[in-house]
Amino acid sequence: MQVVETVDAYRKACDAIRAGHRIGFVPTMGALHAGHASLMRQASRAGLVPVVSIFVNPTQFGPNEDFDRYPRTLDRDLELCASEGVQLVFTPTVAEMYPAHSRTLVKVSGLTDFMCGASRPGHFDGVATVVSKFFNVTGPCSAFFGRKDYQQYRVICAMVTDLLMPVTVVGCPIWREPDGLAMSSRNRYLSPDERLRALGIIRGIADAERVFRAGERAPSVLLDRVKQSLVRSQLREDYVALRDPVELAALEGAERLPERALLAVAAYCGHTRLIDNLVLGEEMAPTLPGVV
Ligand code: AMP
Repeated sequence: MQVVETVDAYRKACDAIRAGHRIGFVPTMGALHAGHASLMRQASRAGLVPVVSIFVNPTQFGPNEDFDRYPRTLDRDLELCASEGVQLVFTPTVAEMYPAHSRTLVKVSGLTDFMCGASRPGHFDGVATVVSKFFNVTGPCSAFFGRKDYQQYRVICAMVTDLLMPVTVVGCPIWREPDGLAMSSRNRYLSPDERLRALGIIRGIADAERVFRAGERAPSVLLDRVKQSLVRSQLREDYVALRDPVELAALEGAERLPERALLAVAAYCGHTRLIDNLVLGEEMAPTLPGVV
């Protein structure tokens, strides 16, 4: 496995891989866990050469967010990449990704001013900008994104379409702990008590999913199921949203939900902000653990 730090070395290494193979690119912020590994495996299974970037991107963090204390575990991350058969890892510095006097921002409008975009102003501009830089140096590839960050996944799809980027975006299922908590690098912030209470998110989602499967289509009923679960677990709601899974158009005001609807949740557990979601009406439901 090759590990490179400069844009120049990374671009050359990607070109070399692409001479005979197709790249399966997995951008990450490190502190890797089984959710990240599942993206690498999906790339390999698709017959692609897995390539990973590890970069904690400062421009996607707000001034009062956790950029400084975001977990950085590079040695262990590289071990995980090696064990997943990754061939190339890009670990740039901030100066490498943001040349002095950087002044270009990629802004995807329409998809970024609600849900996580409303709570984290500027977040998706930072994400779209850094991901477009990664795509520019990686070159033509398939890029694997987790649907845990569902809004991010849709923003990247829109960016690739709008800017005619030679990238195929693949949205991958959410990888969960055995008790149902969506895996996240931020889960390590949770105290033992918070870790238990964090389950209120997936319990609420699973409850709403059961009701949806039984035929309920009133948005308010499903939203209430989730909100009640958050309250029961003493989680502070940031948002609970029902949206069209592709365009992210609001469905909260619909009289009756369509056959597929994104149910997305963000909530604070202590100081830690957690997100999770499910597309109601999709085949993923059986993989939801038996949470009650
Ligand atoms: P991050 O390192 O948090 O920026 O995440 C890097 C990529 O891994 C993003 O595409 C995330 O959506 C994805 N990811 C993070 N957690 C999970 C998970 N539990 N299941 C699937 N994908 C995930």
